[in-house]
Amino acid sequence: MCVSRISHILAKAWNVVSLCRYAHVPVWVSSRWKHTNSQQYTAVIFDMGGVLIPSLATLTAEWELKNNLQPGWIWKTILSGESHVAWDRCMLGELTFEEFVLVISKEKQTSNIIKPYLEAMTRQMDYQIPAMREAIQCIRAEGLKTAVLTNNFWFKHQSFLPVEKVDFDVVIESCREGIRKPNPEIYKRCLERLKVQPTESIYLDDFGQNLKPAAQLGMITIKVGDITTAIQKLESLLRFPLHGYVHGTQTVHKHMDIPTDRLKEYLQTTLGLSSAEPLTLRQFSHGQSNPTYHIRSGDRQLVLRKKPPGKLLQSAHAVEREYRVMKALRSMGVPVPKVLAICEDPSILGTSFYLMEYCQGRIFKDPTLPGLSAHQRTEIYSAMNHVLCRIHQVDVHAAGLEDYGKHGNYIERQVHTWTKQYRASETHNIPTMEQIIKWLPENLPTHEKTTIVHGDFRLDNLVFHPDKPEVLAILDWELSTLGDPISDVALSCLAHYLPPDFPILKGLNNCDLTELGIPSDLEYLTMYCDKMGINPVKNWNFYMAFSFFRVTAILQGVYKRSLQGQASSTKAETAGKLVESTAELSWMFAIREGFRKFKSIPTRNPNPPVRKYSTWNRQRSSATNFLSTLSLNNHSKHLISVPKGHLIISSEGLSPRVQELYHQLTMFMDKHIYPLERELTDHQRDENRWTPNPKMEKLKTEAKAKGLWNLFLPLKTDPEIKYGAGLTNLEYAHLCEVMGRSLHAPEAFNCSAPDTGNMEILLKYGTEAQKEQWLLPLLEGKIRSCFAMTEPQVASSDATNIEASIVEEGDSYILNGHKWWTSGAMDPRCKLCVFMGKTNPQAHRHRQQSMILVSMDTPGIKVVRPLSVYGMEDPPGGHGELLFENVRVSKENILLGPGQGFEIAQGRLGPGRIHHCMRLIGYADRALQLMKERVKTRVAFGRPLAEQGTIMADIANSRIEIEQARLLVLKAAQLMDTVSDKEAASEISMIKLVAPNMALHVIDRAIQAFGAAGLSGDYPLAQFFGWARALRLADGPDEVHRAVIAKLELKR
Ligand SMILES: Cc1cc2nc3c(=O)[nH]c(=O)nc-3n(C[C@H](O)[C@H](O)[C@H](O)COP(=O)(O)OP(=O)(O)OC[C@H]3O[C@@H](n4cnc5c(N)ncnc54)[C@H](O)[C@@H]3O)c2cc1C
Repeated sequence: MCVSRISHILAKAWNVVSLCRYAHVPVWVSSRWKHTNSQQYTAVIFDMGGVLIPSLATLTAEWELKNNLQPGWIWKTILSGESHVAWDRCMLGELTFEEFVLVISKEKQTSNIIKPYLEAMTRQMDYQIPAMREAIQCIRAEGLKTAVLTNNFWFKHQSFLPVEKVDFDVVIESCREGIRKPNPEIYKRCLERLKVQPTESIYLDDFGQNLKPAAQLGMITIKVGDITTAIQKLESLLRFPLHGYVHGTQTVHKHMDIPTDRLKEYLQTTLGLSSAEPLTLRQFSHGQSNPTYHIRSGDRQLVLRKKPPGKLLQSAHAVEREYRVMKALRSMGVPVPKVLAICEDPSILGTSFYLMEYCQGRIFKDPTLPGLSAHQRTEIYSAMNHVLCRIHQVDVHAAGLEDYGKHGNYIERQVHTWTKQYRASETHNIPTMEQIIKWLPENLPTHEKTTIVHGDFRLDNLVFHPDKPEVLAILDWELSTLGDPISDVALSCLAHYLPPDFPILKGLNNCDLTELGIPSDLEYLTMYCDKMGINPVKNWNFYMAFSFFRVTAILQGVYKRSLQGQASSTKAETAGKLVESTAELSWMFAIREGFRKFKSIPTRNPNPPVRKYSTWNRQRSSATNFLSTLSLNNHSKHLISVPKGHLIISSEGLSPRVQELYHQLTMFMDKHIYPLERELTDHQRDENRWTPNPKMEKLKTEAKAKGLWNLFLPLKTDPEIKYGAGLTNLEYAHLCEVMGRSLHAPEAFNCSAPDTGNMEILLKYGTEAQKEQWLLPLLEGKIRSCFAMTEPQVASSDATNIEASIVEEGDSYILNGHKWWTSGAMDPRCKLCVFMGKTNPQAHRHRQQSMILVSMDTPGIKVVRPLSVYGMEDPPGGHGELLFENVRVSKENILLGPGQGFEIAQGRLGPGRIHHCMRLIGYADRALQLMKERVKTRVAFGRPLAEQGTIMADIANSRIEIEQARLLVLKAAQLMDTVSDKEAASEISMIKLVAPNMALHVIDRAIQAFGAAGLSGDYPLAQFFGWARALRLADGPDEVHRAVIAKLELKR
């Protein structure tokens, strides 16, 4: 599809705004925004009795006559004595109609007459005068507001209001308001709610006394005696006809007028219509880009659709195409209006046009289908689905439509065209749209069918049978072409994700679809696939993302024009917000697709190139042993795919699914992380460093969309793969090394400490409520967390030393303590602190401690200062020194139970140490890579540094040390997977010693080879060195780990 045609399609813009492409025609906005024919008035207000429904006075007179009563006798009787007051109170809502009848029956001797009279009146007045209803529909079609302003009463537990409420913007009833006409207040209320000035409104009433205050306020008034006369008076004020209403139409706009005499002549010669019959024309509010008219001539009703006047781009407004496709489809049994004639002779109406039969039936604008039962709704959606299949089942060759569009690559072409269109109307940068523009071409469907596509298949483009769930006609073929049919299915499900108050297309989001009887989008898709006999569409999320992308591009065009055109700034702003919200919806589906793809990668590699590991003290390890250590239910056992007993030493040995992740991760690092590294580091040094960098948030959404998210959660902790990627420690270790190559990467993948450890303990030990409150937002990357154990006043490498107290008081615990090196606490997104303190200092030394979840907003938490490592503050998370002073926390926040803190701390550390160590290997490998690049080009003393023997030795030593360390860490991970964390204790301590020390040596050599530059902030080496050094202390100092190894060794 070429851009000119797309531009033209923008004119449709879901009927929001007409964007005329033809030069000399002014831009005009939709009818509900502005009406052109009757500039002076914006609202018409109706009395009820005698205006909208039969007059009480007339009905009474007839009744009196029929019952041989004197004219006027009834109301003279009612309004005499006490009943006068009672009638007043009835209209003010103080008495119900039934109570009023009781008062009259008691007071009057004549209740045998009055009572049946009142009953007859309420019955006979329950009828809306058709001519007035039609007038109201005509008024509303022109964009004017309407209101009913009535003195009424409560009757049978409801207010007496026998009119269609949907006909009115405002309804003012005396029995609800507690005031009645002719009190001027009630008129003022009506005007206020309509938001119009008195002089902009017309008021109709049959009672002169009620018209007076309206006139005094400045409203134009019409006294209604005879209905026809009143309508004529109203017509002359409004200057448009108030009869001949056809659903969805309005009077023809001046600049859209067509010469009726020539049209009449044409209809006579072509269709044999009688010239004696008057011809009336109305214009459909839909189809503004190709003006569409309703023609009535005698009993015959037709629809005329033409190109707009003025200069047009050749491919746009192709009414000939519409005529062609409708004619062909009808011959193939697809329900479309019968086309009657096409006229390409511009001398008749100025442009080409075609005629079709007018199809009468129900058009549903509201996808919730109000007024229908759940069963009827199911039938309507099923009928919609059925006709869509009929379109797609048409044999394009048999229909003679094989050249109706290009074959193949429809989605790719569409993405390209709409991107171009979006760029042409871009007003500002929408980051989500940029992401989606990048994402779509990378995720195009690999298999596309080619069928007729409607291009705008929506519920409100279908005419249903007046009673049956049957589609009589599919309208609006302007966007039809040959293309991928699933795009039509996705388009017809857009409403499922839009909010009910979405201004353009009412949505179904948050509606209870089951209760309504409306199929969900996936049920609708399944229904479609079953009917078409095709396999389920796996990449449905892609199609939804694409559909919302297309909508966003359309809305952006509307928005740009609203800025240039006549729409008010608030309307332009609204349109602007819509653009961003549909872009978000598109991205939401992109993210879903990322997860879907990731989860569908096969989990097993039949022949992994691995090396069988063996070590003298691991003979007990076996697959059986591994499974027995897990308390898995039967359902989850089949999910486990641990390569049992084999040490995978390089990424090539990983399963295809993990290899794919490895590949994706590596590409993400190259494409997104490394290029942004410098900027992210600079941000950490500037004055805004304590504010999270928005670029990081962007990286996070991109990583999420690729399924590169929460990869750290070990399969053992999450055996049903509910929260993470279901990777073993060994598999994740390989990925973690890749992430470690940049200090900024782990956060982008939601894999950074201390959140990872905290998420793991919440998953392992948290209650459902704790998971809901903290784990889910952490998994989504919406909040961050910290872990507060270390205290300045005690040697915290021995956790039993810590002094912070957690004291029970009623339903709460009171926390007091001085903590430091609380990583992440400075981050404004940090909402959770896992606090360790003593609940019972008298208990056994490993049962004194507890862990409790504390919201960072709790009163009593004070940040003393951020600490630094070699001057590096690591913002925005930092490492905080914190005071906890009488911090009150609900008892429910305790983790696992009082006295369990030590146990949790042990459980927290296993996988976390693998992560730290593999990241250190990542730092080291990157440092070596940078060093190699540097020494190859840097020349000293006449030759590149790489040729110096000492440098070569450094490179060799670094490589050896990295490989040694990696093997040890992988072995520890493998033991954790196949045996247990406890049995891997020695290896876990070994790696915590080996990895930081190895990294320090390797990085130090790289710094040395770089010269002074190595120490600067221009390269990541100095930062790597700082963090490697810190890791000789964080998570336990080397000496403590050495002691553990020695103790275990001596026990053997
Ligand atoms: C960058 C960084 C981030 C951190 N993040 C956190 C965090 O988020 N939360 C948190 O609670 N803590 C955190 N820490 C603190 C860290 O866990 C502690 O520093 C560590 O446990 C050591 O405790 P300490 O500093 O009190 O040293 P001490 O316990 O005072 O030990 C001092 C030194 O004594 C020696 N020593 C100790 N025990 C022995 C032994 N058995 N044999 C021989 N020598 C021994 C060692 O040389 C040791 O370095 C972080 C630390 C750093 C550097």
